[in-house]
Amino acid sequence: MQALMMNSQLMISSILKHAEKAFPTQEIVSVTVDNPLHRYTYKDFGARSRKLANALTTLGAKFGDRIGTLAWNDYRHLELYYAVSGSGMVCHTINPKLFPEQVAYIINHAEDKFIFVDVLVFPLIEALKDHLKKVEKIIVMTSPAAMPETSMDNVVCYETLLEAENDSFEWPEFDENTASGMCYTSGTTGNPKGVVYSHRSTILHALVGALPDSTGARAEEVCMPIVPMFHVNAWGVPYASIMVGSKLVMPGPKLADGETLHKLIEGEQVTYSSGVPTIWMALLDYLNKTGKRVNSLKTAGTGGAACPIGIIETFNKKYGTTVKQGWGMTEMSPLGTIYSPTAEMADYTQEQLIGLQAKQGRCVFGVELKIVDEDNNELPWDGVAFGALKVRGPWIASGYYGMSQTPGDNDCPVDSDGWLNTGDVAMIHPNGFMQITDRTKDVIKTGGEWVSSIDIENAAASHTDIAEAAAIGRYHPKWTERPLLIAIKQPGANIDKDALMAFLKDKLHKWAVPDDVVFVEELPHTATGKLNKLALREKFKDYEFPAA
Ligand code: AMP
Repeated sequence: MQALMMNSQLMISSILKHAEKAFPTQEIVSVTVDNPLHRYTYKDFGARSRKLANALTTLGAKFGDRIGTLAWNDYRHLELYYAVSGSGMVCHTINPKLFPEQVAYIINHAEDKFIFVDVLVFPLIEALKDHLKKVEKIIVMTSPAAMPETSMDNVVCYETLLEAENDSFEWPEFDENTASGMCYTSGTTGNPKGVVYSHRSTILHALVGALPDSTGARAEEVCMPIVPMFHVNAWGVPYASIMVGSKLVMPGPKLADGETLHKLIEGEQVTYSSGVPTIWMALLDYLNKTGKRVNSLKTAGTGGAACPIGIIETFNKKYGTTVKQGWGMTEMSPLGTIYSPTAEMADYTQEQLIGLQAKQGRCVFGVELKIVDEDNNELPWDGVAFGALKVRGPWIASGYYGMSQTPGDNDCPVDSDGWLNTGDVAMIHPNGFMQITDRTKDVIKTGGEWVSSIDIENAAASHTDIAEAAAIGRYHPKWTERPLLIAIKQPGANIDKDALMAFLKDKLHKWAVPDDVVFVEELPHTATGKLNKLALREKFKDYEFPAA
């Protein structure tokens, strides 16, 4: 028997239509180059997004065209999210921090028709102009006064474009499985691969992302996504928060600047913010140096990389902010798991809760998880067994753009059993909390034992004298591989190698204690803020352990 319910398609434009009607006066505050504190309402946001949809039509954009963006977190980028997808084109966000040749590859592979670019990123486009095969127009996201000088003849000013349009536009309704967005994975090997989101997957992800135990997005909250809008749609915050009517604070290009982040949190009374651990390190470092506080910040969402326990402890104990760690991937839109304590944990000590926050959390409704051994046999959720982590669900990629869609094929991320292989190694505890132990390729294999590089890093970073640490496996004549720890000291700390090794002996299995420690001034990070293990392995490729 068929149900008797309206078959409305799940459309991204419906979020905008709802938000501007239900919350017309709610604010969006942005840092931009042409206005350090731009402020407008959801009503203005709706009107300008419709103008932009008209402008796209005037420029000649057609249903299904890919429209690239190279931009930071601000209101113009939000307008693009909604106008492009809402009118049936594909909003293709590109990370400006990638190598220029990767940016050119991504633009050409997706066959972007137009590129909308932040004024600060425009020099990158100028440098690449001879390599962009199909791009017809470049639109610089600024006002006429701030337009850069250029010899390119296909460059247009965003505000001039909008000025010429009116704000009436009917958002079309079409099949909810139509592509709405695209994001290339920032893989450290091979060419980047395009993940293609749909209207349906984006809406379902936003609904679950807004649940109280996910981000807890609410109309009363003031939300600041620090995670970039080019990194998996800023983890879906621009959809979930606008869906529920939160005030949004967009930090523009100042994503890693502790001072700006503090000013925005205090000035706009931000209650929820999300970012990778390196962002939180920058903020905590600034607070530590200045003695300032972030009193309004109730929750700091973190993900993208394992969160060092020191960050969780400092936020909890010194500032009263709860760290909510989540885990996911570009291929997963990205939400997979998140910290969600239950009432039975109400009498946990602070240390116990911190221990839970350091794990990756429970799977959210809609995401199925399993861990398997090398023969693909499912492993128990007993907090002991660990294996390859696989996932499936309605906002998880079934394939990459322009590559095989057949499960089990080499270039298809889905295995022949219909599950996406995440490339992560994990254990799952009996209480449902998942714990990433490593990336498959970062696991250190020593004398038949698997050692988690993340465990070593967390143990090292829990020493008050250590600011950040990375562990990699290096060749060892007897054990094949042994762990090498590369660490940055806290400013002014004078801990030495022996003291750190002695500290680690109490925290790790005997075979997981690194054979050597190298102190450095800086650790390499990828364009999305993760420790770049590939670069570290390259840097230390000729390293030899001291003779025992
Ligand atoms: P990306 O697609 O660039 O977002 O990278 C996804 C990968 O980041 C995952 O497969 C994990 O290896 C890693 N990752 C994401 N969140 C976490 C987390 N909370 N803890 C540890 N690793 C994480």
